[in-house]
Amino acid sequence: MHCPFCRHADSRVIDSRTSDDGLSIRRRRQCPQCGGRFSTIETASLNVIKRSGVIEPFSREKVMSGVRKACQGRPVTEGDLGLLAQAVEETVRQTGTSQIDTNEIGLAILPPLRELDEIAYLRFASVYQAFDTLDDFEAAIAQLRADHDAARAAASVADEV
Ligand SMILES: [Zn+2]
Repeated sequence: MHCPFCRHADSRVIDSRTSDDGLSIRRRRQCPQCGGRFSTIETASLNVIKRSGVIEPFSREKVMSGVRKACQGRPVTEGDLGLLAQAVEETVRQTGTSQIDTNEIGLAILPPLRELDEIAYLRFASVYQAFDTLDDFEAAIAQLRADHDAARAAASVADEV
């Protein structure tokens, strides 16, 4: 990459560091011509194919804004949303593909959102999975209840042991 100061065509890497989440590498570079120092950040490209067919880079901010709507009035902080978006990015990057569609992002959002807030999860799922009737809500709520009961049963077994 060209030096941003003098446009020299080459640069030397003097330090490289992996980010805490392991998703990017930051390289400190120095220009051999003018001595200027600058940083580059390297990430695997990850693109999202929208329903309209438009392709755009994956954005944690877009994940957060989609989920934020479902969290209105719920005890969910911006920090929670940031962690959720990070978890979603890790999930989709683990699939190893460089292109995903919005549907797959929706699927990756559901499990961590359910952990975070069940009401927000139901709201998000109702839009994303296009719930048509009350039956759809009842089925989703019944699933949550069944999982609560299973968790409680497991906890009480653990208590006895
Ligand atoms: Zn330079």
